[in-house]
Amino acid sequence: MAKYNTLLYYCYSTIENGEQFAADHLNFCKELGLTGRIIVADEGLNGTVSGTPEACQAYMDAVLADERFAKTDFKVDEVDEPSFVKMHVRYKSEIVHSGLRDPNIIDPKQRTGIHLEPKEFMEMKDRDDVVVLDVRSNYEHSLGKFKNAVTLDIENFRDFPAMINELAKYKDKKILTYCTGGIKCEKASALLLHEGFKNVYQLHGGIIKYGKEAGGKDFEGKCYVFDNRLSVDVNSVNPVVISTCRNCGKTTPKMINCANPECNEHFTQCDECGEAMEGCCSDACKAHPRKRVYDGTGYYVKVPQPVNVTKKARPNLPNKYFLYKSRAAAKTAALLFL
Ligand SMILES: [Zn+2]
Ligand SMILES: [Zn+2]
Repeated sequence: MAKYNTLLYYCYSTIENGEQFAADHLNFCKELGLTGRIIVADEGLNGTVSGTPEACQAYMDAVLADERFAKTDFKVDEVDEPSFVKMHVRYKSEIVHSGLRDPNIIDPKQRTGIHLEPKEFMEMKDRDDVVVLDVRSNYEHSLGKFKNAVTLDIENFRDFPAMINELAKYKDKKILTYCTGGIKCEKASALLLHEGFKNVYQLHGGIIKYGKEAGGKDFEGKCYVFDNRLSVDVNSVNPVVISTCRNCGKTTPKMINCANPECNEHFTQCDECGEAMEGCCSDACKAHPRKRVYDGTGYYVKVPQPVNVTKKARPNLPNKYFLYKSRAAAKTAALLFL
């Protein structure tokens, strides 16, 4: 039995009073003893949370019991330690930043590509009339991607819309998009359809679910994840390492954050260079006065800023299950990142 589970999930669904929902949801997660990062927006929920199997199960049960989120697909990983240190729930304008905020143009609740289950994706991806498109950013696909996938030179998903012209040459093909957990594909595929692409498909549940249900076949390298694991193995069928050390060029699967907090870049670095560079991407970062101590993991916990989260209880909210037993418990946990 796993000591802890880590859940990855999202759900596009309209949330009223998103800001209040986020505050209540934070307390609910803390009550369960979860750690993680959740984004709440008017368009839905996106999260990675970690905790005991019991706490994770209680969380999934509660989310699925809410009709707004009944279709949420949880990807469950077994881990030896929680994948986060703190619990954050933030209210933002989108659950993944794309800049595509106008639901009259792009609305994943109304129109997206055809969802392919991992085995369907596996069967289709090598056909002549198919282009497999990675919609993730440089630091993600440089660590791992599907064999023969088209990748984009983007630093952030919000740069994806500007790349549409570059993809025009594939308009006659079937486009199969994929990302980490499926969430980016919801908007990427919707945008492709909006731009006149006719045959758009997307990998449901993303690389993570593909690893679990299709053995990760033909996924080369590792999958970048947004928690302190930094990357996870996907392919148990025909794995290879594709990423190379930034400093010496040697093949390495190791992804770290630069030890200079003002740089904090995600990059691949071998263990030898990690030691020599003290976990930094460059000599300039190595000389930085605020450089953090490199312990070999390349993951750094942010210093929490104390914030008062003792919000007044509002009894008339349509909270449903997001009621927590004790408001006092919430008051004790008064640390939260901004
Ligand atoms: Zn190296
Ligand atoms: Zn750096």
